Amino acid sequence: MAPAPPPPGTKGTVLVVEDEAALARLIGSYLTREGFDVQTLGDGLEAIDRVRTWHPDVLVLDLGLPGADGVEVCRAIRTFSDCYVIMLTARAEEVDRLIGLSVGADDYVTKPFSPREVVARVQAMLRRPRGIGARASTAEAEHDVREVGRLRMDLAAREVTLDGEPVGLTRTEFDVLAVLVSQPRRAFSRDQLIGEVWGEGWVGDPHLVDVHLGHVRRKLGDDASAPQFVQTVRGYGYRLGPCA
Ligand code: CA
Repeated sequence: MAPAPPPPGTKGTVLVVEDEAALARLIGSYLTREGFDVQTLGDGLEAIDRVRTWHPDVLVLDLGLPGADGVEVCRAIRTFSDCYVIMLTARAEEVDRLIGLSVGADDYVTKPFSPREVVARVQAMLRRPRGIGARASTAEAEHDVREVGRLRMDLAAREVTLDGEPVGLTRTEFDVLAVLVSQPRRAFSRDQLIGEVWGEGWVGDPHLVDVHLGHVRRKLGDDASAPQFVQTVRGYGYRLGPCA
């Protein structure tokens, strides 16, 4: 299902879930100033309900929350929503971001951060083309289906099947895989993938690409030591393969 367009007069809707009220207000005010329609909440369980009823474009989600923590919230909303999720993590520890991304977050920001950084990440998410198909004309996009062996990607419908069975990818996972599928055998560097998916000028951790492609591999049943679909190009990046 195509995501709903943002309400008129706003750049999009953002739900900020952070139990430190002052911090939630601060992030909210920066986003509001940039033209986003913002709601803030401090409880994980309420956040799940709000995503269900309000359908925000982006969820800015603190990891440590009362009610349900950020990991539980993310896992729960991924069963019914494909909104973009930016996780706020309290520590620079790798485990936090890996856990967050493994339950379907698209990006993360480590505390302490400047509210401007959060705003920049939200803007980067919403600037992203809705998949490679979004760039083609509608007529082309309707027929933009790529098949690579047992893998089939319908870029317009944003559906992936493996042996005819649907594969549940997040938006970000879909977008990264779509770039690889768009030019089979071409090796893409991490920076090129970042440029294609997150947009030029995005500032963040390029190893996000590794994490998202790791999830794609797992969901496709791809063995990292002998991948059928997502091949590592050592010291460079990734390509689709082998598909000879
Ligand atoms: Ca917290």
